[in-house]
Parts: sequence; structure tokens; C-alpha cells
Amino acid sequence: MSKIILTGDRPTGRLHLGHFVGSLRRRVELQNSGGFEKIYIMIADAQALTDNADNPEKIRQNIIEVALDYLSVGIDPEKSVIFIQSQIPQLTELTFYYMNLVTVSRLQRNPTVKSEILLRNFETSIPVGFFTYPISQASDITAFKATTVPAGEDQEPMIEQAREIVRKFNSVYGDTLVEPSILLPDNKACLRLPGTDGKAKMSKSLGNCIYLADTPEDVKKKVMSMYTDPDHIRVEDPGKIEGNTVFTYLDAFCTDEDFAEFLPDYSCLDELKEHYKKGGLGDVKVKKFLLNVINKQLEPIRVRRKEYEQNIPLVYDILKKGTQEAYQVAQQTLDEVKAAMKINYFDDQELIKGQSEKYKEK
Ligand code: ATP
Ligand code: MG
Repeated sequence: MSKIILTGDRPTGRLHLGHFVGSLRRRVELQNSGGFEKIYIMIADAQALTDNADNPEKIRQNIIEVALDYLSVGIDPEKSVIFIQSQIPQLTELTFYYMNLVTVSRLQRNPTVKSEILLRNFETSIPVGFFTYPISQASDITAFKATTVPAGEDQEPMIEQAREIVRKFNSVYGDTLVEPSILLPDNKACLRLPGTDGKAKMSKSLGNCIYLADTPEDVKKKVMSMYTDPDHIRVEDPGKIEGNTVFTYLDAFCTDEDFAEFLPDYSCLDELKEHYKKGGLGDVKVKKFLLNVINKQLEPIRVRRKEYEQNIPLVYDILKKGTQEAYQVAQQTLDEVKAAMKINYFDDQELIKGQSEKYKEK
């Protein structure tokens, strides 16, 4: 079976380091590995509207931001299909049929839905569209017959829900859809990168992000005020590594070469950690190192972004072409789904013949 990737992001803001380590970095590697037949990357504007219905302008403005971030991290439109979700009505149509295969209580048990409802303070006024977005996500994945979804850990329950829908669909209507699997980052620190405030997840909605497009000055401000070990007050005090965001970021980003380049007193991260735990290593020194490590990663991204920013019509053109290609693929799957469900009345000569004969006999 051919290997196909589908991933995406909500255009609710610019992309940040959490996206980078959780998914973007992997996408670029996979794209360049040649091991996949197709890579679809979706800007999930329809999903973003499920909790931003009163602010479509925000979504509209951020589509280009996400597209610029994609191109600047190295997503190559010659190799990957970048498209806009709302322009593929087939996805909405699939969602409507899949809805019949999922119970309300199953959605209520979805841990990601639960935590996102809490995060957004919806309490009892949850928009129906938001509540059902895991089903819409199953449509996005299955429409492209994706086998692989590179994503952060928060997406695991979503992929599980999609797999259940596929199994249910195939058992009721016959083998049509492909079961996807999630591809998690292999580095533990990248599964769910915490925010600069130390909170569990770096997230646009929590305002605790370092954005890919941040200037070196922005990054400096954010890194220097990052959450560390609150009990590590004097340089000579022993410090804690667990829950210390600066070290989690180093786990996610730094390599031994970074030590040689920026902090040659240490050969690797383990040595730095040992010194911090023992005492005698100040937060400022570690933060300055982290700042260098992050800026080294972000610099080429900033440079490429600047280039694309000078050619916005080209970026829209890339999105339009990708969307046209995605449209065709989704239509093909929708045709197969409708045939499997036997709701393809006008294409089914057998049906017309059978019905005619039924009446002829009378
Ligand atoms: P929003 O607050 O609008 O939901 P978000 O910052 O959570 O935005 P999404 O667009 O929901 O970002 O996530 C897109 C992708 O990035 C998903 O694959 C998700 O797993 C991954 N991702 C987002 N935040 C992180 C993070 N902090 N660590 C690892 N992966 C992340
Ligand atoms: Mg999210």
C-alpha cells in the first residue's frame, strides 16, 4: 500500500516552536525522504471557525501567515500539496455521513475534546461544530487515504477516533477507507512542548509561544524571562531539571555541535544538566545558550520568510494550485464512499434496471 501523509494546522495565529518540534520539522524530513507517495498539508480554516465563528477575519488573516511559515520551514510546494480546508466541500460532505457512525457519548469521552472545552471555557455552551470536529478531522484524513499523520501527542485521541470511524465504515459498507496511524516525535520533549510560562503546552490560545517569525529581540525577551526552577535562587544552589522549561527546550532543540559552537566548556547536554543539579551554574548562562540554539534554528527560517513575504501573490497561487489538486483527490474518495453507501443513484445502472424490472413484472 502506498504511504500517504496528511497533516495540518489551524490558522488561528502564526506557527510556533511547539508546532515545529511536534510536527513541522518531521514533515520536512519526511517530505525530503522520498518515502511517501503524497504529502497533503491542510490549513484547517473550517476547523478554526468551529471556535472562532464570530471572528472570521482572524482566520482569513492567518491563512497567509501559516502558509508563509510552511514555506519558510522548508515545505516545498513541488513535493507537498498545501491546501485550504474550507475550499474542499467534499470534506464537509464526508463529515455528514461519518456523523452517523459516532455516538454523542463517544465524543464526550474524547480526552482532547474534553480538555479543549475546558481551555475555551465553553462550559455548557459548546458549539455543535466544535464538539464534532474530531469527526471532521476523520474526514480530512480519510479523504486523502492518509496512512500517516505526523502530529503532537495531543492529537492521539483524534487519530484513534478516526481509526474507529474507518473500522465502522468498512464493516458496515465494505472496505473503502484506510486506517491512519499517528507518527509522534521520537524525542520525548517534543511530544508536547511546554509554553515559556512552564504551562503544559505551548499554544496560540494560551499566549505562551515563541513564534517561528519572532525577531531575535522577541526571542531574547521570551527566553530570558522563561520559567525555570523557582527554588534555584542563587547560582550556587542545586537546581532541578524536571519541569524546568529551559532544559525541556534544550532537550527538544540542542545538539552536541551546539555545545562546540556556543558553550565549549561542556561537551553535551548531560554534562550541563549534571552541573546545574549540583549547583554553581546560573540560569542566565543556560538561557543565553538556549537563545543561541533557538536563534540558530530560526535564522534560516526568518530569511526564507522574508523572501516569500515579498511575493504574496505567489503564495496564494501555491495555495490555489494545491487546493485544486486536493479537490480532485477528495472527490474521488467521496465517489467511492457514496458508491459503498449506495447513495450514488444516478450512477448505478443496476439500480435503474432493477427498479424497472420490478415494475414490469407487475
Ligand atoms: P490552537 O490554540 O488554535 O488550538 P495550537 O497552538 O494548539 O493552536 P494546532 O493548530 O491546534 O496548534 O496544532 C497543530 C499541530 O501542532 C498538531 O499536530 C499539534 O499536535 C502540534 N502542536 C501544537 N502545539 C504543540 C506543542 N506545544 N507541542 C507539540 N506539538 C504541538
Ligand atoms: Mg490545538
